Amino acid sequence: RVLLEVKDLRAVIAESGQEILRGVNLTIYEGEVHAIMGKNGSGKSTFAKVLVGHPDYETPVEIPGVSNFDFLNMAYNARRKRQGLPGLPPLEFYSYVSPKAAAVNMDLRFLDRNVNEGFSGGEKKRNEILQLAVLEADLAILDEIDSGLDVDALQDVAKAVNGLLTPYNSVLMITHYLRLLDCINPSHVHIMEEGSIVKTGDVSLAKQLEKEGYKAFSVL
Ligand code: ADP
Ligand code: MG
Ligand code: MG
Repeated sequence: RVLLEVKDLRAVIAESGQEILRGVNLTIYEGEVHAIMGKNGSGKSTFAKVLVGHPDYETPVEIPGVSNFDFLNMAYNARRKRQGLPGLPPLEFYSYVSPKAAAVNMDLRFLDRNVNEGFSGGEKKRNEILQLAVLEADLAILDEIDSGLDVDALQDVAKAVNGLLTPYNSVLMITHYLRLLDCINPSHVHIMEEGSIVKTGDVSLAKQLEKEGYKAFSVL
């Protein structure tokens, strides 16, 4: 089953006419784990944003003053509604969310805190993974989920992502670092340069990249 098919995707800055994405092609099947690497400014985040900005995709928003539990319950019920299913009342939702929080190593007290308020970098990322777990996303798009994490937090987040993977969903992660790919083993690695994917391979591509730098892969 194809989860994402992108053909010749282009994006232009309206004011300046500057082309940011110049024909991105990418197909993701269920069960695959894709990584996109590339120099700063190559268009990775723009690509992720264009994907999640599509009306077929949703991303959780931050709402100050709302408890994490209520937020997750609302997001989950909104999804259930779109599926034509009734929402879960708080007590039942608690039974649903508790094991998922445990699976990402999150203390249940975090559910009572306000969304992201005072969360450390690692806690925020862990919470994002919990949101993905609750929403049972078919395709998770993670832009630099490893940035700003210490080694232990990175391991935790990676473990949580691995825990979400099934043969029926997939992850697209954007990263600068091989250290993330050591924890979450990608089936496909892509290199983006100036708004398009210029090379695709397996994890050995990332290893080569770490050794030789982006110059080795430049087609420009
Ligand atoms: P990456 O995530 O690979 O570092 P980005 O997608 O963030 O790259 O940015 C790609 C290029 O597009 C950069 O040159 C950036 O300055 C430019 N860019 C991205 N968004 C905008 C915007 N809203 N307005 C102007 N330029 C932008
Ligand atoms: Mg950047
Ligand atoms: Mg970026």
